[in-house]
Amino acid sequence: MQTVSNSIQVSHLLLQKTVKNASVIIDATCGNGNDTLFLAQNAPFAHIYAFDIQHTAIENTIAKTKEYENRINYICDSHINIKKYINNTFINAATFNLGYLPSGSHSITTDATTTINTVDCIKNLLAPNGVISILMYPGHNAGAKEYKQLFEHTRTFDNHIFTVGWYCLHNHTNAPALCWIEKQG
Ligand code: SAH
Repeated sequence: MQTVSNSIQVSHLLLQKTVKNASVIIDATCGNGNDTLFLAQNAPFAHIYAFDIQHTAIENTIAKTKEYENRINYICDSHINIKKYINNTFINAATFNLGYLPSGSHSITTDATTTINTVDCIKNLLAPNGVISILMYPGHNAGAKEYKQLFEHTRTFDNHIFTVGWYCLHNHTNAPALCWIEKQG
């Protein structure tokens, strides 16, 4: 097991630095709550909006983040509806951990088109120096499609406004990949 090299570890290293002073954070796919907990621990001033379409995922996240519940909105809805819940505010950071709930049904996964539309929506709400972290799993069919489509789509982002980085493990087959988007200051 790597200590700093895999995409999840790299995303956490980048997030740790960028969320320190954040005030609004989105966990677009809270799942078992691991990322929500990480964000709550590393962003002491932030309010966090945690989305998932599965009740079990929301329950797992609530249980995992009890200590921080006064700073978290748990939302059982698709991330595509983000604008229903966030009014007139900029977003400092958003995380996506795509695919299926590890402990749940593998047939309920994120969807490439919905993910791309939500990334576009959040991108337009990003504060200066705001970031979006997207972890994806090209080892399963839906994940491979998301990887390909996001790779092509994010290439088109205006580089005067956004910087888009990609990270993967070059000599591992189908390892998780990270897309990192930063808005200029
Ligand atoms: N970050 C999580 C793992 C996420 S797994 C953790 O730390 O444990 C991916 C999650 O995305 C699943 O729980 C799935 O239910 C959720 N999901 C799929 N489509 C979604 C959508 N449109 N909006 C919000 N969540 C979605």
